[in-house]
Amino acid sequence: MQIAIDGPVAAGKGTVSKLAAKRLGFLYVDTGALYRTVSVFCDREKVDKNNENSVVDLIKKFRPRIELRNPNSSEIDGRLCTVLLNGQDISWEIRTPEASQGSSLVSRYLGVRDYLLDFQRELATKHSVVMEGRDIGTFVLPKAEIKIFLAGKIETRAKRRQLELQSRGEDVSLEKVVSDIQMRDRQDMERPLRPLKRADDSIEIDTSDMTIEEVVGKIVKLVKERLKNE
Ligand code: C5P
Repeated sequence: MQIAIDGPVAAGKGTVSKLAAKRLGFLYVDTGALYRTVSVFCDREKVDKNNENSVVDLIKKFRPRIELRNPNSSEIDGRLCTVLLNGQDISWEIRTPEASQGSSLVSRYLGVRDYLLDFQRELATKHSVVMEGRDIGTFVLPKAEIKIFLAGKIETRAKRRQLELQSRGEDVSLEKVVSDIQMRDRQDMERPLRPLKRADDSIEIDTSDMTIEEVVGKIVKLVKERLKNE
């Protein structure tokens, strides 16, 4: 079974998808982590992320090996998933504001999106998944049995992101968080290639005034109803 969850920055996709996957016994797949990994890889190789040819050439030449998995018992430190780049744990390195912005830049390129596409689809053929991102319901898993679009007010999303950054010792003003989120959302929604948009057959959930538990409960209920009707 495939559950696709899309939405803008800090709508709660990661936390909600991870918990829903756990309750359902499905694999949680954070596709944003893949774009973030490409951004970190470019930085390590000193490639300009604004230069499409350089980024795509780098990926084609070195074919970085990316692994995504649930954290094991020695990795319980608040991360949602463990990410390895060529065998090295970069689970926290991909969560910096630089990697957030960098991932939004490299995600505009067809060569990058296609490099990551097979990986995402393969996971969804091998496992039942809760896969979250920006183009999951519209492009990666167009036949997903359940598609959710998570939305939320900018103020609520910014406060959530600020708290998350503070918990990691990064003190950023709310104004800066708001402007960073707006910039990334704009980049994601306005890019010509597989932009962030609500799939016609998706169910929208506005998470602004809901607890995490309420959102997870709603998604799990939708899945169970669907399974009952099969
Ligand atoms: O979800 P997260 O904030 O970790 O995603 C990082 C970036 O990766 C997004 O801003 C977006 O540009 C890109 N992305 C994407 N398609 C996806 C998932 C993420 O373009 N399916």
